[in-house]
Amino acid sequence: SSHPVSPVFTRALTFGDKIAIIDQNGEHTYRELFCQSLRLSQEICRVLHCSSRDLKEERISFLCPNDASYVVAQWASWMSGGIAVPLYRKHPVQQLEYVVEDSQSALIIAAEEYVGKISPSAEKLRVPVLPLRSRSSGSAGDTAVEDVPLASSASWKDRGAMIIYTSGTTGRPKGVLSTHENVQAVTTGLVEKWEWKKEDVILHVLPLHHVHGVINKLLCPLWVGATCIMLPEFSAQMVWKKFLSSQAPRVSVFMAVPTIYAKLIEYYDEHFSQPQVQDFVRAFCQENIRLMVSGSAALPVPVLEKWKAITGHTLLERYGMTEIGMALSNPLHGVRVPGSVGTPLPGVEVRIATETVKGGCRSYTIHAQGDEDGTQVTPGLEGQEGELLVRGSSVFREYWNRPKETKEAFTADGWFRTGDTAAYHDGVYWIKGRTSVDIIKNGGFKISALEVERQLLAHPHITDVAVIGPPDMVWGQRVSAVVQLRRGEMLSVKELKEWARDSMAPYAIPTELIVVEEIPRNQMGKVNKKELLQRFYAA
Ligand code: ATP
Ligand code: MG
Repeated sequence: SSHPVSPVFTRALTFGDKIAIIDQNGEHTYRELFCQSLRLSQEICRVLHCSSRDLKEERISFLCPNDASYVVAQWASWMSGGIAVPLYRKHPVQQLEYVVEDSQSALIIAAEEYVGKISPSAEKLRVPVLPLRSRSSGSAGDTAVEDVPLASSASWKDRGAMIIYTSGTTGRPKGVLSTHENVQAVTTGLVEKWEWKKEDVILHVLPLHHVHGVINKLLCPLWVGATCIMLPEFSAQMVWKKFLSSQAPRVSVFMAVPTIYAKLIEYYDEHFSQPQVQDFVRAFCQENIRLMVSGSAALPVPVLEKWKAITGHTLLERYGMTEIGMALSNPLHGVRVPGSVGTPLPGVEVRIATETVKGGCRSYTIHAQGDEDGTQVTPGLEGQEGELLVRGSSVFREYWNRPKETKEAFTADGWFRTGDTAAYHDGVYWIKGRTSVDIIKNGGFKISALEVERQLLAHPHITDVAVIGPPDMVWGQRVSAVVQLRRGEMLSVKELKEWARDSMAPYAIPTELIVVEEIPRNQMGKVNKKELLQRFYAA
């Protein structure tokens, strides 16, 4: 798209007195956020003894609650020319230290309530702490974009904007450095595809140290002048209360990870049993909410179906990762195919590498988002499966301080290797899982753990499942299912095999079953399968 590359705050003043954020402290207008950020950026430069013009890509960590202060810290980092490094308030001190140290941050901005938590680490690492009040006072004044020293300076395009750490599902979290161009490409791609508009009201309940919470749920609404209601954290009760509130502004957009939808369903089952209440919930959600999105992990089809029955909304599933922002999405209008992640977002090109060789791939197919004519698909793509490769202006610049990993992450011709296996059929893409842990090689067969999980979730006793592939002397790998069962139910391998006989390929049916109290998932709903393998199959 044709937006000039500049951070989201340069648009903020044009939205003036519109409400940008509603949090536990009340309402915050775009102008207020802009002015507070500008003041904080001057503070930053004072602490670092510089004028903002020479603060070149200095990393600025910040530890804030989910409220307007987060936006102020992010914008202030950008206004002063720095790179925003969001810390997660629930991380143990050790993890916070890792991020501050690994990113070589020059400064930590901390909301007053977290100053105590971070100070010992800051002292140890010799990084100054700048406290930030949740609601800074003072009048907005007549500040203009021109008052930001960098606003008039040359291009923002290649400047580092933020370092977001990956979820650490497959190893130590890596710092992903995205430029302002990258961040804007993801933002405008989603704004276009999901038709964000300034009348939208989004309910924000996700952590703010991953792309899902930072870009999809925060930067997108701020880009168009919409309103973002921020809850301090996820609570099923609070989310339902906000969904069903008749008070303006009413929620029109919601996004979450699959486990959050599962928890909302649980709450619904426990509290909304009367038919009149259920009718009301459905009618109210239908009337007021226009879009509900799921991502960050595979959305179980039973969750999608139950959610549709409750709210009338077919969840829109999309696929993304820290390094590439969002890449594939089901359509806003048109058919959303359960279990699929749709087609490329605007500006994103994807490939399926059917045969990867050192430095590149010998054969591949390509699928690019085209102009109004729609997408261009290479003939022969139908039925292909392999590693998903991505190219486009949303793809990150580098893993911070990891030149070797950065180099290895790209093919010789510049495509980013996602490490995920994907397939293309029926006009859409399907994520089969991480090539390293989710593609199980059993004899001559390649089995997708995600697909097996999808099938097992149809079993009436299974509420959650993670399929893993422990090593096997004869078969290479076996298929093992770690399952969480409905309260009071039991399940044996024999019973499972009988149940699966008619619906699953024989080689994909698990030969081992491990029943657990709860499948361990992180804040983003992801399972660490290496850890599971270690736990149950360590030699
Ligand atoms: P690390 O890279 O540190 O191991 P991570 O890959 O989990 O952690 P993220 O960048 O937060 O860190 O997550 C991206 C991954 O999430 C993708 O590579 C993919 O495996 C998974 N993912 C995201 N959306 C979906 C989806 N809709 N369906 C299936 N998997 C998804
Ligand atoms: Mg990853």
